[in-house]
Amino acid sequence: MTVAIIGAGMAGLSCARALVQAGLTVEIYDKGRGPGGRMSTRRVRVEGRGLRFDHGAQYFTARDERFRAEVAAWQQAGRVAPWPAAGDEALVGVPGMNEPVRAMAEGLDVRWGARIDRLDRVAGEWMLHGEGLLESHSTVVVAVPAEQAGPLVAGFSPQFGDRAERTVSEPCWTVMACFAQPLPLPDTLATGDSVAWAARDGAKPGRSGSESWVLQASPRWTRDRLDEAPDAIAAKLLAAFFTENAVAPVARTYAAAHRWLYARAQPVAGEPALWDPSLRLGLAGDWLLAPRVESAWVSGRELADRMIAHLG
Ligand SMILES: Cc1cc2nc3c(=O)[nH]c(=O)nc-3n(C[C@H](O)[C@H](O)[C@H](O)COP(=O)(O)OP(=O)(O)OC[C@H]3O[C@@H](n4cnc5c(N)ncnc54)[C@H](O)[C@@H]3O)c2cc1C
Repeated sequence: MTVAIIGAGMAGLSCARALVQAGLTVEIYDKGRGPGGRMSTRRVRVEGRGLRFDHGAQYFTARDERFRAEVAAWQQAGRVAPWPAAGDEALVGVPGMNEPVRAMAEGLDVRWGARIDRLDRVAGEWMLHGEGLLESHSTVVVAVPAEQAGPLVAGFSPQFGDRAERTVSEPCWTVMACFAQPLPLPDTLATGDSVAWAARDGAKPGRSGSESWVLQASPRWTRDRLDEAPDAIAAKLLAAFFTENAVAPVARTYAAAHRWLYARAQPVAGEPALWDPSLRLGLAGDWLLAPRVESAWVSGRELADRMIAHLG
């Protein structure tokens, strides 16, 4: 009996680790090239220097006792550190935000670059279909954003499909930029109608110290410009950032934009994880609880607990 987990973000890996600890055999599939999901870190070269940008989640908190224990171990290993600029409880991955996800993937059987396009059920087994990929497993966990989970599961569980369909995520244009001189601004700020959040990314613990920034557009600004070209978005959001903060524009040495279509889910009320024992189908993700890193971890753990109680 093997469990397939689709999605190696915080939720999928949290579920995977608990299942493996309970003695189950788990294989994980993720369409991304490496660990991160929405906690990704982008590596770029700017004027011959290697830089990292946390272009997804900016920081996270740990209030759940189980999550706190895991975070304490990462912190002890130097893979996570407090970031007081974002608040007393704020933590970040070191050297990049994807570090906790990287830590969780270690020792697990994760296939990167493996996108699952369709599920099928044949003689009580789940078939996973992807490009050049056809795998069979007894049990499936879908740990991807609601909008991507719905189409995979609705044909088998209308109830799970309905929960996913009723969950809508806000999109977010994110701009990564480097400047020739320091901006006369604090390390974090919520700026205005256009830029919902801005942070001096290079000043996070364990970073390069470069004048690199991450700007996140508000949901409304993003929705109004969803299909514009990334270069145009970078120029417009930077202009709005300087205007909203009454700062004279500073020359940039790098700028790029990334569009998150499903950045922050707006969850509907319900269970923090979904498990159908007769289908042996589970769903986990931040969208079942709250749009936060910690909630993704908790959802994955809750699902694993239900599965272990059933599968033994
Ligand atoms: C711009 C932005 C800012 C944020 N800021 C914060 C913050 O400051 N604090 C905070 O706590 N949270 C923040 N969040 C939210 C946080 O990142 C998420 O709550 C959390 O990372 C979600 O984890 P997850 O495992 O549920 O989903 P994801 O991280 O999205 O993981 C899903 C994984 O599934 C993979 N996948 C999707 N479809 C398929 C498929 N068909 N086949 C195979 N693999 C697939 C993806 O590649 C991905 O790795 C932010 C998110 C964004 C985008």
